[in-house]
Amino acid sequence: MKTKKLYETDGMLFSFRANIMETRETEKGYGIVLDQTAFFPEGGGQTADTGYIDDARVLDVQIVGGEIVHFVDRLPKEKEVSCRLDADERFRKMQNHLGEHLLCGAIHKLYGYENVGFHLGADYMTFDVSGPMTAEQIYEAELLANGAVAENAPVRCYYPENVSALDYRAKSEKLEDVSEIRIVEVEGFDRCACCAPHLDEAGKVGLIKIVDAMKYKGGMRFWALCGFDALADYDHRLTEIRKVSALLSAKPTEIAEAVKSKLDEIGELKKTVGALKRELNAMKLASIERTDENICIFDDSMDGNTMREFATGGMKKTSAVFAVFAGTDETGYQFVIGSEGIKLKARIPEFKSALGGKCGGSDKMLFGHADKSKAEIEAFFAR
Ligand SMILES: [Zn+2]
Repeated sequence: MKTKKLYETDGMLFSFRANIMETRETEKGYGIVLDQTAFFPEGGGQTADTGYIDDARVLDVQIVGGEIVHFVDRLPKEKEVSCRLDADERFRKMQNHLGEHLLCGAIHKLYGYENVGFHLGADYMTFDVSGPMTAEQIYEAELLANGAVAENAPVRCYYPENVSALDYRAKSEKLEDVSEIRIVEVEGFDRCACCAPHLDEAGKVGLIKIVDAMKYKGGMRFWALCGFDALADYDHRLTEIRKVSALLSAKPTEIAEAVKSKLDEIGELKKTVGALKRELNAMKLASIERTDENICIFDDSMDGNTMREFATGGMKKTSAVFAVFAGTDETGYQFVIGSEGIKLKARIPEFKSALGGKCGGSDKMLFGHADKSKAEIEAFFAR
């Protein structure tokens, strides 16, 4: 006997009584087949419902060999059981799923595109449409879908007697067996072939918001949130905006301008710091006497670029090797080694074994990271 799918006729049914027809032990735990169920098994891009069968936790629901199997953490003692879904979670999914129908219906009405992909997970919903859209077109579709919510049209789910006479949207791969086609109809707005449970009124969807969009396979992929998920997302975004607004001492509605002016300020400061660093490098170099010995300098204030510039000037101060190190004995040292008189590449193995770590570059300049202590490095260059 096939399980009666209560979720197909009444999406708002969150608790019900049923009889256990069969139990099985599987790799995924115990499996239960009921005579009727409101638990939606995973399918059509939507994850399975969870909840309880008596005191057994329903962890997953799958169609296995044509049967709806409820995977539970234990077997109930009685044959007749009382079942309840995690209603908040199911309601959230139905808000998102019907919201997707309304968005795809709106896009179809406005631009004639088909819905070609759908995923409804725990954290987000995505759907794909068959043609490209501009930001303005996306907003138009959003407005139309939210208008359908405001109209609060009734939603009906049914198996039509004459499918071929009916105008409805469907993903092409689902058209093979027309007797299996179930229609979800938002009265006066949209008809779509769909196997999932649905809200009974469009108004229950609440706010519909597309939060992200990208071009995808010649069409579009959208990330959207509906109802309580949209509210939670709005709240999260507002909290973040308030934090940024407080940090910038700017009104929440004017943070973009405030960020731009801060970035401009940072750009100016970078220019000033760059000029000061070059000036400081020149002063440090001026204090170094010309020699035929190696020169080895430790300076923790330098970043990579500054070290490179310092070494470029420093190698003119010696016929031997000029080396600059930044770091500590604990973290190791970044270094730049330069020379005008000695071909450095041939000496890489020697530097690697004396300094530890890594070393590479050109004949004129080597870059690397040393593991040895300051005392060991100084001793090596003092030879
Ligand atoms: Zn659907």
